[in-house]
Parts: sequence; structure tokens; C-alpha cells
Amino acid sequence: MNSPNLARRIFLGMLVGAILGLVANYFAGGSAQLDWWDSNVVKPTGRLFIRIIFMIVLPLIVSAIVLGVKELGDMNQVGRVGVRCLLATLVFSAISVVIGLAVVNVIQPGKRLPAESRAALMAEYGGQTVTKAVETAKKETPVAERLLSLIPQNPLAEAVNAFTPGHEGGGLLSVMVFALFIGVAVNVAGPRAAPVANLCEAVMEVCMTVIGFAMKLAPLGVACLVFSATATLGLGIVKTLGLYLFAVLLALSLHCFGFYALALRMAGHSPLRFFRDSREALITGFTTSSSNATLPVSLRVAEMKLGIPKQISRFVLTVGATANQNGTALYEGVTVLFLAQVFGVELTTGQQITAALMCIVAGLGTAGAPGASLPMLVGVLIAVGVPGDSVAIIIGIDRILDMSRTAVNVMGDLVIARIVAGKVAPA
Ligand code: ASP
Repeated sequence: MNSPNLARRIFLGMLVGAILGLVANYFAGGSAQLDWWDSNVVKPTGRLFIRIIFMIVLPLIVSAIVLGVKELGDMNQVGRVGVRCLLATLVFSAISVVIGLAVVNVIQPGKRLPAESRAALMAEYGGQTVTKAVETAKKETPVAERLLSLIPQNPLAEAVNAFTPGHEGGGLLSVMVFALFIGVAVNVAGPRAAPVANLCEAVMEVCMTVIGFAMKLAPLGVACLVFSATATLGLGIVKTLGLYLFAVLLALSLHCFGFYALALRMAGHSPLRFFRDSREALITGFTTSSSNATLPVSLRVAEMKLGIPKQISRFVLTVGATANQNGTALYEGVTVLFLAQVFGVELTTGQQITAALMCIVAGLGTAGAPGASLPMLVGVLIAVGVPGDSVAIIIGIDRILDMSRTAVNVMGDLVIARIVAGKVAPA
């Protein structure tokens, strides 16, 4: 979906957009001509590829979650190893999101944006969406009611309103819950439900192809979006993005070298030795930005360097490449909160918990391919009342974040395989 060549062109697009945007901001910032060009030519061109991604967010989320849960369920059928993996996947993802949210709450990169830049962004990306979201956030709904609304009475109505600001029902999160139920049911029903799983696979394939079309426009799109942001907001946005980049990388490092190390130590393994032996997989994940493409290397590392029994490593790593995406869940949590800060949307603790749950579930359904979490991210953003279009702000630096989160995704799979195998057959 996103070859190294395409990645280079996207990076180039970002650089060209940033340089031209800063020059335009310096010489013509605030002028009527620049505004006209920006709103009538540059921005619409840039938004084209984001709109195409928007278009397939719902079918992609539903089919990906059904399949992700089904795969985890398959794991369940292999007994205790499967159950341990399932639990570890959920716990690891939850901890990664908590670390991400803690870091972004402390650093608050989105709050450092100058007030005038924030006002410009609000005007640009739909102040109405933000205002409605803030109003909804202020409403105190009893916890029991909120939990109940997660189980949709009418999943179609929730799907239709999934992106409606201020919608009172469970919205996208309840659509996710619906998909979770279907995934579990497909498993329980067994072969008779196989056509549903096949349909989801086909839908997912089609959605990934559509994203492929969108990605062809990405280099031009990114150049336009970055131009638009820097021409309007100048250096302020560059600094804010630098801080956001720092927050994501810090949180990923804490999760990988802090939490994973702790989990390994608690399971009786030497973290240092583990990281040394796994570095080939870490580097491949980093350079390819794809857990799936890294799978052969992870398998080799697990079997030859870490001494994990084949029957465990094959199973855990293959399922984990899609279903266990700690780095992605963490990144989504940080990004949602960052963009909420940028737009001045104060997420209550309840809303942060909702966002965290969505990121955990989204992590289960994200394909192990470059940029695969983008549609999921758009979904979560809109669900918490942050304009979905605002991914435009971070899209220019997404590649470096994708490389880093993929490395953590890959390490997470290996850590789980190591811990689970340790109990079965110590290496
Ligand atoms: N590139 C990631 C992976 O393959 C998925 C994502 O976060 O976009 O693991």
C-alpha cells in the first residue's frame, strides 16, 4: 500500500509543502490573495485524498474488527496458550494507551499552540463540530447509562450517526462493540458462519485497495496540506508538531524499553538479552513500517535467536501481526488527545476513557501495513468530537511515527510470544 518509493515521495511532498508554506507565510501571510489560493486551490486538492480515506472508514472498521476478533478467537481454540495471548494482548494494549495518554497529559503539546493559530485552525476545520463536542462533553451522563449505550439498539442508526457531532448514542464506539459481538459469534457459530468471515475479508480487501488509490494522491496531498498549515500558521505549528513528535516517541520508548522490559523481567527473562537478540525484527519493523512484512523476520528471530518453540511462535506472531498493535493503540491515543488540545476540546476523564477503549479496539482491527491506522484514527477523532479533517495537521510527519510504532508493534508480539512460551517450554 505504501512502498519505500511512495514514502520518499510523501516525505518530499512534506518538505516542499513546508518550505513553500513558510516562505508564503513570511511574504504574504494574511493577504487576501494567499487566502483565496489556499481555500480554493491548495486545500481542496490536499483534502481530496483524506476524503477518499473517510469514505471507507466505516466498512473498514467493521470488517477489520470482526476479523481481528475472529483471529483472536481462533487462538482461543488452542487452549491455555491462546487464552494467555488473548489476555496479554488486551492488557498490553491497555497499558500502552495509558502510557500514551499520561505522557500527552503531562507534556500537553497541543496546548503550546499560540492562541491566534488555534483560532485560525478552528475557523478552518469547522468550529461547529468542536463547539458541539464541547457541549456534549459538558453533559454529565450517568456511567451506567453510558455503558448501556455502548450496546447499540440499532447498529445501523449508530453507524449513520457515527460521525455526527453531539450525537447522544454510543456512535462509533457502539458500532465497534457490534463488530466485537459479530466477531465472537462468527467464532462460536463455527463453519456455518464462514461466509460472514469471507465477506468481511473481501470487504477489507476492497477497502485496502481504495486506501491504495488514496495513497497514490498522498505526495501531492501532503504537500498541499502542509503548505496550507504552514502558510496560515507559520512557525508556531512546526514547533507544536515537534513537541507532539517528541511526546509520541517518548511514550513509545517508555512502553517498549520500560513496560516490555518489566514484563520480561517479571516472567524471568533478561530484557537486555531479549532486546539484543530481537534487534533484527525491531529494525525491519522500523524500516518497513509493516508488521506483516516483518513477520518472516520475527519468526526467524523467535525460533533461531529466542529459542521459542515453533508451534507457539508461528501462531502468536501471525495473529499478533494484525491483532496485537500496542504501538498503534498508543499512537492513536496520543494523537487524539493532542488534536483535542489543539482544538481546545477539553476531554473529560470519562471521554478519555472512551477514547482509550476505542484505541484499544482499533488496535485489534488495524492491518499490519504502512499507514493502516489512519482510517481508524479518523474514526476515533470524529467520535470524540475532534474534526476528522484535522489529521491533515499530522499527516506530514506520519511516516516517521509509523516506522516507530510499527517497531513497537513487532516487539510487542515477540514479548508476548516469549512470555507465553516461557511458561510452556523454557528456552
Ligand atoms: N504500520 C503499522 C503496522 O504495520 C500499522 C499502523 O499503525 O498504521 O504495524
